[in-house]
Amino acid sequence: MACASQTASAQPASGGSVDPAVIENLVAASRILADQGVVDAFGHVSIRHPANPNRYLMSRAIAPALVTADDIMEFDLDSNPVDQRGRGMFIERFIHGEVYKARPDVNAVVHSHSPGVIPFGVTQVPIRPVMHTGSFLYVGVPVWEIRKAGGTTDMLVRNPELGKSLAETLGDKPVALMRGHGDVVVGPTVQRAVIRAVYTEVNARLQTIALSLGGPITYISAEEGALRDQAGGDESRAWDLWKAKAMGK
Ligand SMILES: [Zn+2]
Repeated sequence: MACASQTASAQPASGGSVDPAVIENLVAASRILADQGVVDAFGHVSIRHPANPNRYLMSRAIAPALVTADDIMEFDLDSNPVDQRGRGMFIERFIHGEVYKARPDVNAVVHSHSPGVIPFGVTQVPIRPVMHTGSFLYVGVPVWEIRKAGGTTDMLVRNPELGKSLAETLGDKPVALMRGHGDVVVGPTVQRAVIRAVYTEVNARLQTIALSLGGPITYISAEEGALRDQAGGDESRAWDLWKAKAMGK
């Protein structure tokens, strides 16, 4: 039922109440991304509604470092608000709704203007993992060209059609770059999506340094990346540290 197309004026039903601890982690994610230099005044993170896969949660349109629990709004997957109450909404929320439609495995989406990745969206050099914390990038990082989807635009994902095109470029990958704009990073949990977003930025900066040194680069191999994916890692150590720092301000 909730997959049905909603007009902008339609008010979709709520997916239900959400555990305050879940909301707190979404707030923390927003602040962590700001604290770690992935987002600045712009950018946003969302989670899929825990009780209804056809709804997602993200803040009203404010700077990520300022987000509080009261700012969290609920949307259907066409990115219509459940209860707008006059609150401003992120123009590019369609990125989130369309990725959730295309990727049932994804429960969190980060969109940022992660500065380190920009050079890889405007050149022919692909992002590849240069350090173990970025090893998940071994599967490849596609680059989305907004001109192919929408011709000449103001570069923003302003409608569901552009969001759908971006989700198609993302495919089954954890990260896609947006040419001249930033990236979209996804994960099965908000913790995984945030950690991937942070280490995509770190890896991009370090890869740029490695490229500037010249000569062949020994990247993390696909086999090494796959082994890292299997082993997982101590995500809670990074999350707990970053959350404490970001929420303690
Ligand atoms: Zn953007």
